[in-house]
This record gives sequence, C-alpha cells and structure tokens, in this order.
Amino acid sequence: MGEDLEQLKQRLPLLDYLRQQNWIGRPAGQGPEFVGLCPLHHETRPSFYVNARKNLFYCHGCGQGGDLIRFVELSQHLSFRHSLTYLEQQSALADPDTVLRQASVFYQQQLDRYPEARRYLEQRGVRDPALIRELQIGYAPGGSLRRHLLAQGCSLDLLRHTGLVNPQGHDTFYQRVVFPCCQDGRIVNLYGRSLGTAFAHRFLPGSKGNLFAWESVRQFPSVVLVEGMFDLAVLWQAGFRHATCALGTHLTADQLQQLCDRPRTVYLTFDVDANGSGQQAAHALAHRLRAQGITSRRVLLPSGHDPNSFFVQGGDARQFHSLLEAAPL
Ligand SMILES: [Zn+2]
Repeated sequence: MGEDLEQLKQRLPLLDYLRQQNWIGRPAGQGPEFVGLCPLHHETRPSFYVNARKNLFYCHGCGQGGDLIRFVELSQHLSFRHSLTYLEQQSALADPDTVLRQASVFYQQQLDRYPEARRYLEQRGVRDPALIRELQIGYAPGGSLRRHLLAQGCSLDLLRHTGLVNPQGHDTFYQRVVFPCCQDGRIVNLYGRSLGTAFAHRFLPGSKGNLFAWESVRQFPSVVLVEGMFDLAVLWQAGFRHATCALGTHLTADQLQQLCDRPRTVYLTFDVDANGSGQQAAHALAHRLRAQGITSRRVLLPSGHDPNSFFVQGGDARQFHSLLEAAPL
C-alpha cells in the first residue's frame, strides 16, 4: 500500500495535478517553490505554496498543508480511501495508453448504433459478431469522441497529444471503421478505414505497432501475411487463423524481426493490382526475408484481387487453400 502510494504520487506530481485543475502558480524565488491563490479558501493575496521537489503544499492563509492525497481530501471533500480511488482514475487518464484504450472501447460501443458501419462491414464480408468483438472493430462517427473523453476526465492536451483530436480541436476520425493497433499487449495506435470519400487509410501519429495478433499467430510453422485488416478479417473468418497483417506492404524493422524470430514459411499474400505494386512489394520483402534465412512463397490471387475481394466475391476456404498450396517459392 505504502509503495503504491509513493508510485501514485510520482506518476501524478502535485504541481501537475494542481495545474490540471487550473491552479496558477508563479515561481517563488530561485528554488522549487511556487506560489498562488489558495484553492482551499477565499483570498486575494497569494499564500498557497507548492514545493515541487518535496511534492507538498502549504497555505499560510488557512494553515492547511500536506501531499497530493491530503489536497484531494480537502478540495474534493473525500475520505482518504475515496481520494485514492479518485486519483488512480485521474492518473490513468493522464496516460496515452489508457486514453487510446478508452477511445477504442467507445468506438466499439458505437458500431451497433450506426447502420452504415454494419453495412460497410457486411460489404467487406465481415459478418461474424464474435470475430468483430475479437478484432475489437469499432466505428468513429466523428464529432462525439472528444466530448466523451473530456467528460471522462481526459485533458484536451492529452487528446491532442495522442492525435485523437486534431490541432483545431475536432475528432480526427470521422466516419471510419476503427481497429486497434497493439504492441506488447498495449494499444499504441488506431487504424481508421474511411466509409466515405475521405482518404481511405488513416493512422494516428506514431508507431503502427506489432504484426497483428502476433502472440497467437507466431506459434504456427507457417503464416499468411496480408496488407490490410479486412484481408485478415475474412481469412480469420474462413478459419485461417495463422494470418497476420502488417497494415501496409512495408514492414517496420520490428515487424520484420517478428517474422524472423524462428524458422517458418511466410505466405506473402499482397494485392494483385494492375500496376503491380503489391507484387513488387512482395518481391522486395521476399528478398529481405531470404537474407534472414526465412522461406517465403508468393500467393497469386486472381488478377485484380486482394484476399478480401477474393472472399467477398465468392472465393471460399478450399479455393484459398489451393492458392496457398500452389504458391511459388
Ligand atoms: Zn488556504
């Protein structure tokens, strides 16, 4: 308990907390002290001091003083125990991981409220409700995330910092189906696929994370690597649970490392598009994999197809299995 308390106070320094609550303090001299109006009693001349190094406050006006928890007890009129619960929530909401998780949960809750989102999934051949839950697919209608997260106690600064809200203060994702991107079990980004005319693919700033669901896929002696989340969704739905996705054809160094973490065969299943870019990317990746001692095979879908369109237009598991078997080295 004592340990947790110290950690909590370090995670959420008193001065940061006060500033989140709009307290304005000026440096009091050269040291780590700040002074401002007391939030605990009415005054016109500043007598509330905060020592940022000691993480303590003292007010010469009302005589109150102590640490962050004491301050919360006094300012929120909460018991010691309730102050701790309150602060645990506050410090969690100052953490980008938590905010991305909350955004993902919110988007998942929206999915059933917007028929256009369900229709879009249907069009892309994603129907299984259990799979939709498992992939944590959500929908960003746009215009409601900011309000929701602010009401949960997130700061606007943090929403901007994560990129969930743009510099103008609006939701970044509008009318997009949203998938979480994870790394080591944490959500590090969100991918949004536009339903409308906006640019199709969008991420928040920062890393796109690990290969999708790598914890469960890495155990297989062979894996199917696809470009997009809708490719992965239809493959999983058809029983190809050894499919993973790099969200694009260019693998990050970490993602390449993951593919090469043990001997395995990688089925490169990129788009077969008219300009040949998917196949060029597959060719280049095959090279990089061979240099690491990994065997790869290029899956040749019918011309103009990606795995998603292959299944949407009537392809089935047996046919896809034959394509895997026929894939040239
Ligand atoms: Zn005071």
